[in-house]
Amino acid sequence: MAFKLALGGGHGANTPGKRTPKFDDGTYMNEHDFNYPTACYVEENLVNEYEDVEIVRVDDEVRDVPLIERTNKANAEGADAYVSIHANAMNFTWGEPAPRGIETYAYVSEPPEAMELAEKAQDEMIDATGLFNRGVKTANFHVLRETHMSAILVECGFMDNKEEARLLMSDEYRRTCARAITNAIAAQYGLKKRSNPKPAAPKPTYETYVIDENIGNYRLESKVADLRFYVEPSWADADVFGRIDEGVGFPTIVRKLQVGDGEQYEVQNSDGATFYITAADVFVQLIEKEEDEPWFIGKRVECKVGKLRFYSRPSWDDSALAGHVTEGIGFPNILDKLTVGAGEQYEVANSDGDVFYITASDEYVRVE
Ligand SMILES: [Zn+2]
Repeated sequence: MAFKLALGGGHGANTPGKRTPKFDDGTYMNEHDFNYPTACYVEENLVNEYEDVEIVRVDDEVRDVPLIERTNKANAEGADAYVSIHANAMNFTWGEPAPRGIETYAYVSEPPEAMELAEKAQDEMIDATGLFNRGVKTANFHVLRETHMSAILVECGFMDNKEEARLLMSDEYRRTCARAITNAIAAQYGLKKRSNPKPAAPKPTYETYVIDENIGNYRLESKVADLRFYVEPSWADADVFGRIDEGVGFPTIVRKLQVGDGEQYEVQNSDGATFYITAADVFVQLIEKEEDEPWFIGKRVECKVGKLRFYSRPSWDDSALAGHVTEGIGFPNILDKLTVGAGEQYEVANSDGDVFYITASDEYVRVE
């Protein structure tokens, strides 16, 4: 008889509150963005690699399936075990010190089989991830209480710990967790490996080509709450890296791409990391960037009068006098323009990189 597993990632795609705190650039990840793909990988591993496994999914790609609906389905299907996948949170702000590690739950009555499965899942998770071991715990959670089979809930790391949040946002970590949970289930229920495992389904591929390269002087802003962005030109759940809220965005747009049936912008955050986000104008808008550098930065400045003072600090004072330049002589690199007393000075560097200050008045100097 087939081994029947009820399996689900916790929450829905847009369940309020279930998410990482916001990173400095306004990005975050919803818990479902971790839970759902990880559950998909567990399903894929078990079905492809083991004989006689049947999976009853109690979650949904988008909808937040009510807990009662989940446990009713598992019970009606007569599942042999129930595994729920989650990411943890303590305070929903970046904790100081940050909470950390992995824990696995079984029901408070400590049903022996569920406790064994929980121990195995916890051990496999700690071995695979190297994260802090919070151990096996018991709790009176609905999905542990209302299920008529051995049920566990795995918390795969803390969303309010920056390092663990970054892990939870990576496809590699999701696959690592799925492998650990798969191993625990296979060991607990003595699942038999297929002699010829089915290959994992290939990742969905999207035909991609460049639509527009000339959008370098725009930044992107989201027009909606909770907008997904991706690590690759893709629309797949597994490639969702994080989300942004209305009014938040990316400072750099590299280009516009056709991705499958839709269009995405390739964008960069302030660290220069590259992501992909829908280009549909119901979701995002492009905002022209202001010129980010004044025209004279990096230019040469030279004296256009007989003899001109320059200074060691932004000052007109004799005590700051560093030397003189004569007509046609100057500095190869303007770094900045400063207001000094009633006038303005260029902060300049000579060819050795030594920094000086010289009037910015075009009566005395020319910039070229
Ligand atoms: Zn959760």
